[in-house]
Amino acid sequence: MAVFISLLLFLLGASIASFAGLALHRLRARPAGQSAWAALSGRSRCDGCGAQLTALELVPMLGWLIARGRCARCGHSVPAIYPVSEALAGGGLAALFLLGGFASVAVVLPAFVLFVVLGVVFLALRGGG
Ligand SMILES: [Zn+2]
Repeated sequence: MAVFISLLLFLLGASIASFAGLALHRLRARPAGQSAWAALSGRSRCDGCGAQLTALELVPMLGWLIARGRCARCGHSVPAIYPVSEALAGGGLAALFLLGGFASVAVVLPAFVLFVVLGVVFLALRGGG
């Protein structure tokens, strides 16, 4: 059971980090005048060719590994910071559960989520750049 919960926490942590990376990238790169909501909505696209990413390419870590860090269409490089941060967040959350149990996760997970939400709100209000 502990392995299953660890796996779920790994996926949760990786997904939160994936969203954080997406939000950070999109909010910082949004053109002047575009609302934060518009920047955050819609499916992700390749920065090189603008093609919409496939469902498989959107899976945290796995999408990057399968594509070997490049867009399958134009070869545009995708920075390794995305899969690395996803693996660290997922691994950290799973390790926290295995070492400290639910009590540790109950303290750290809300703080982690709050940190991500505040970061996104800060960037959204700041107006990009
Ligand atoms: Zn591309």
